[in-house]
Amino acid sequence: MRVRFAPSPTGFLHVGGARTAIYNWLFRQRMGGALILRIEDTDRARSDDAMTRQIQDALRWLGVTWDEGPHLQSERVERHAARAHELVESGRAYACFCSSQELDSKRAEAGAAGHGFLYPRTCLALARDEVERRLAHGEPHIVRFLMPRENTRFTDLLRGDLDIPPDALDDFILVRSDGSPTYHLSVVSDDIDMGITHVVRGDDHLSNTPKHIRLFEALGAPVPVFAHLPLILGPDRKRLSKRTGATSVEEFRAQGVLPQALFNYLALLSWTPPGGQELLSKDEMAPLFALERISAAPSIFDTAKLLWFNGRYISTLPIDELMH
Ligand code: GLU
Repeated sequence: MRVRFAPSPTGFLHVGGARTAIYNWLFRQRMGGALILRIEDTDRARSDDAMTRQIQDALRWLGVTWDEGPHLQSERVERHAARAHELVESGRAYACFCSSQELDSKRAEAGAAGHGFLYPRTCLALARDEVERRLAHGEPHIVRFLMPRENTRFTDLLRGDLDIPPDALDDFILVRSDGSPTYHLSVVSDDIDMGITHVVRGDDHLSNTPKHIRLFEALGAPVPVFAHLPLILGPDRKRLSKRTGATSVEEFRAQGVLPQALFNYLALLSWTPPGGQELLSKDEMAPLFALERISAAPSIFDTAKLLWFNGRYISTLPIDELMH
């Protein structure tokens, strides 16, 4: 069993990210194997080295340890490029010379006519020698994945069987015109190289998963098991954000929340131990943990409840430890 936590270092560790890390950690403790920390910093403009350190510090404070890494995704771009090359060679990806203006106007036309827009595969029809000539001339291009035009089926451990029709799945981009790999290519390429068996990540990635599954298949790699964790909502039932209070591990730490209390509270936001007990240490949780017992319904972040947990932990701590 090999799992990973793969934050993008674009800000402080959000409680949603922390909960994803916690579930990966619990799974690793329960099943053995390895938890890998991978920092997804390929978006250099938005990534920050200070945040890379900060995220690790927040994880350690919370008690989430990892077995391998941190691996920096930005140091692996040559591997990603090699994967793209492999896909082009095997006919599962192709160079596309269409300009974005051209495609934007076609997309707008389709939108006005009430149709969805999928890339019309104009460049897939180009003869091989024409492609080679244009590439040799250094003509700007991107690399697209040849998405099978058939349903993609998979079982999510939390959501059950899913069946995604092809009309929602474009020939998505693997490599941008500046040569940089996209998120889809990097993530699948790294998951293969790191031997990931279970991908436990936020619900916001669910729509990416059919693309990723097709990429794993095209690269001849085993497809991992997926579990998409529900969103954490604020008290206003909208995505948890600054509007309704603190959202990062760092802020709760500064407010005097103990790491044990935050771990306990976050773990129980969507997971219920079989006995239904509320106060458990991370080591007590680990042997009881099962991804299948996580609810797929969004959970509401309740600061008062977190503070209740914190109060319980504070009252049981010896005074010298509390003062520390
Ligand atoms: N880097 C992505 C994020 O922070 C996670 C990617 C993944 O888990 O596949 O949302």
